[in-house]
Amino acid sequence: MNKKDNASVSLRKILGICLIFIFIMGIGVMATNAKFVNVKIILSSNYEMTVLTAKTKVADILEENHITVLEDEVVTPDLEAEISDNKTIKITKASQVKQKVAEVEESITTEEILQNYNSVKEKIITEQIVIPYETITKEATGEGTKQNRVVQNGINGIKEVTYKVRYQNDVEIEKIEMSSKVIKQPVNKIVEVITMKITSRGGERVATTNPALTASTTLAKSVEGITPTIRNFNTSAYCSCSKCCGKSTGITASGARASAWYTVAAGKGYKIGTIIYIPALSNKPNGGWFKVQDRGGAISNSKLDIYMDSHTSALQYGRKTLECYVYEP
Ligand SMILES: [Zn+2]
Repeated sequence: MNKKDNASVSLRKILGICLIFIFIMGIGVMATNAKFVNVKIILSSNYEMTVLTAKTKVADILEENHITVLEDEVVTPDLEAEISDNKTIKITKASQVKQKVAEVEESITTEEILQNYNSVKEKIITEQIVIPYETITKEATGEGTKQNRVVQNGINGIKEVTYKVRYQNDVEIEKIEMSSKVIKQPVNKIVEVITMKITSRGGERVATTNPALTASTTLAKSVEGITPTIRNFNTSAYCSCSKCCGKSTGITASGARASAWYTVAAGKGYKIGTIIYIPALSNKPNGGWFKVQDRGGAISNSKLDIYMDSHTSALQYGRKTLECYVYEP
């Protein structure tokens, strides 16, 4: 072993001691100066992590945890800011920030709407409104050719309605009925509707000839100036017995005593006094000329009942549909 070798050994020893000293010193420094803090980091994806770090600058903490802030991301607090224990670093997308701004703008718009609302004006107005009358029909059984008739004319009513009207920029936007008062009640129109079932006269036609002009009986002479109508009647015969009439007075509905080959009973569609000529009976004593003098419960407008002297004659006549000329007075 030479002197050079000895020197080298002692240098190594010194270096070794120095390294140990520095190492110990380092631990001491770290133990006394290094302060570890808990920091919560919330990423833009809302992922949360808590890290233990000795760093205090936001940028350093992120770098230490290999978190790269993208161009469209914003860090709170600022990258250059210092942070202390239990603080939070939040990374958000710039678009999310913009959205918040947009929300703010929207709320301003709402305020503007509210301001506009203040310009809404209200007015109380009263209008007179027509209450239309109703038409009511009343059924009635009438005689003959009576038409439906107005029994009572309808009159419209009037009501006064009070509205609250809202205008925005002079344009009506709402109309609320507040109250209404009837000034005049409407009057119903009443129409009497005649039921024609019993009184209708069907199957009539105007005659082209007038048998009265060529006949010689008194009845025919009395209706020479009248144009007859022709229709078919279901004819039968009756007498004054109780079987035929339910009474036996022989007095007709007209008040006159019934006469054979003269009196007929007809439906209410034919007035008392109507003269009827039945060509099929022109060989009879009256030449076929009759006068409506009677009524009967079973006699509708399509029936004629011919008065006869005896019940036997009435039964013998039976029932025949015959063409008749009708002369109405
Ligand atoms: Zn009889």
